[in-house]
Amino acid sequence: MLTVAVVYPDVLSTYGDSGNALVLRARAQVRGIASTVIECRFGESLPHADIYLIGGGEDGPQRAACDYLRRDGSLGRRIDDGAHVLAVCAGFQILGASFEVGAGEIYQGLDLLPVVTTRGTQRSVGDLVVRVGSELLVGFENHGGVSTMSGGGALGEVVSGFGNDGRVDGASAPGVTATYAHGPVLALNPWLADEILARAVGYQLEPYASVADDLHLERCRALGALS
Ligand code: GLN
Repeated sequence: MLTVAVVYPDVLSTYGDSGNALVLRARAQVRGIASTVIECRFGESLPHADIYLIGGGEDGPQRAACDYLRRDGSLGRRIDDGAHVLAVCAGFQILGASFEVGAGEIYQGLDLLPVVTTRGTQRSVGDLVVRVGSELLVGFENHGGVSTMSGGGALGEVVSGFGNDGRVDGASAPGVTATYAHGPVLALNPWLADEILARAVGYQLEPYASVADDLHLERCRALGALS
């Protein structure tokens, strides 16, 4: 049984990020993989899961969620044990070494990624397109943070939009996929949903073509990322 945990959907799920769980469940089901989704509300202990989904949020809820995840202390151990985390925007920033909120207040992150997030001079709002190997990732971004990663390991290169710093977006590390893209990102990018499922089950999945692929292509085309 594949277990997907949505982490604190009551405080971290801007732009419907919790919907990533529905996509994983549906795409697992068509491959005959039984799955269960656990919503872990703010204040509850993290359950044992194969995939953890951490979404975006405003600065206040982001700080509170970060505090609680630090106190819980189990996310890093779960990654070491083979779980995979998909983190979006605030979720991504929380996994880093530190992030800046409000007027110059530096907050300590969970230090699971070599990423420091400072405050940009203006918010990054709009469509984001990222090249990830041979794939394109599309989504919507809205954040004040600028993320700097030491030693490489971004998820992909920005085609249009801002991402981490105008050049690259997110992070790809053992046990972690992170991006600034909302959407929910897995609904807009079925290939990424399958990649995360494949990592969690430990084998390559049968291809599954659906209208989601057409919508993804259409979105890429509309954003000028495909000819
Ligand atoms: N509060 C963070 C920022 O503005 C994250 C925002 C978000 O998750 N959309 O940078």
